[in-house]
Amino acid sequence: MNKPVAPQRSDFDAYMVPNYSPGSIIPVRGEGSRVWDQADREFIDFAGGIAVTSLGHAHPELVAVLKEQGGKLWHLSNVLANEPALRLAKQLTELTFADKVLFANSGAEANEAAFKLARRYAWDIFGEGKHEIVACDSSFHGRTLFTVSVGGQMKYREGFEPVPGGISHVPFNSCSALEAAIGPQTCAFVVEPIQGEGGVTPACATFLRKARELCDKHDALLIFDEVQSGVGRSGFLYAYEHYGVTPDILSTAKGLGGGFPVAAMLCTDKVAGSFKVGTHGSTYGGNPLACAVASKVIEIVTRPEVLKGVTKRSDQFRAALEDINKRFDIFKEVRGMGLLLGAQLQDRFEGKARDFMQAGLEAGVMVLVAGTSVMRFAPSLIIPEADIDEGMARFAAAIEKTIATMDADAGAA
Ligand SMILES: *Cc1c(COP(=O)(O)O)cnc(C)c1O
Repeated sequence: MNKPVAPQRSDFDAYMVPNYSPGSIIPVRGEGSRVWDQADREFIDFAGGIAVTSLGHAHPELVAVLKEQGGKLWHLSNVLANEPALRLAKQLTELTFADKVLFANSGAEANEAAFKLARRYAWDIFGEGKHEIVACDSSFHGRTLFTVSVGGQMKYREGFEPVPGGISHVPFNSCSALEAAIGPQTCAFVVEPIQGEGGVTPACATFLRKARELCDKHDALLIFDEVQSGVGRSGFLYAYEHYGVTPDILSTAKGLGGGFPVAAMLCTDKVAGSFKVGTHGSTYGGNPLACAVASKVIEIVTRPEVLKGVTKRSDQFRAALEDINKRFDIFKEVRGMGLLLGAQLQDRFEGKARDFMQAGLEAGVMVLVAGTSVMRFAPSLIIPEADIDEGMARFAAAIEKTIATMDADAGAA
């Protein structure tokens, strides 16, 4: 009997649109913060599937709920309500500022809903003309045409023009620019409390307070994109709690399903009413399987020991990164919040973030980059402390090797 041949990395180049450039290994299973590839090589996961696997891999309670719901009911569409979605919506409203919830399947879709709701609300209440969305430079809000247009990174928009109009950008954390940009024409200002893709940069509290004040003054809605910063990652369920600034609309995705695709737009009663029957929609949004898993994720993440654990692990990460920095003088700054941390490389390593990421993989640790010069860490919120130590030791070895190679190359040149 011939065993079927397992798919290989070369199949990616053969069969898949070359839109990504995945690493050389193919992971096949995971448990907690460890992952194994086809050759049974083990990796420590500091990447969390880009801030998604908030409770690690194959968390027993999530596996159990997925199995249970999987044997019951997968899908109905929004023609009918379902229990898991109603349960999750109730949890999210009880735990946050929000009165109402709309489900989606990805961060981009949750933002798309948020931006459409902001436009629609302004149109409803104030009539035509109040349609401008203000966003921040180097922000990231997703990859649909509307969300790349609102996002503050040209490279994601390039070649897709014409893009939707009525959007303007201000430098992140500039109160004076915000003051100049928000006016009677503004329907919403959208901001990530911690810019993720843009380099793991937290907003200043004064900036977010100013945003709230200006939005109130000009009847504009404040939208927080917490797709990356949400679901416990900051050490709070949502980062807005840390800032003490409450938005009108909040988008959440990534960590919400712990790896199962699910997203939500949270909002107040004031604005929810502008989405009437049929104004917006999604076939899968609020899917019972996704919501059953997310409901369990929220239940686990909000256990006090889990949120407290995030802060403790954050300190451990920062201390380990400081130690690495003492040895190699590689980082200019370590920033972020909770378990969304960014380490900005020194000028002499400018543009080398991917090299360190690749070296990490070879040394058995999965890390992320944010742009070309920031190492990003977004591990499981419950990563065992021993795994942090072991993963950081591997990362340090990777750095040592990479620097040695760079020095040898420089010497040879
Ligand atoms: C990842 C991300 C998105 C897009 O989410 P997708 O699920 O990839 O569509 C939007 N906003 C922020 C802040 C993100 O980090």
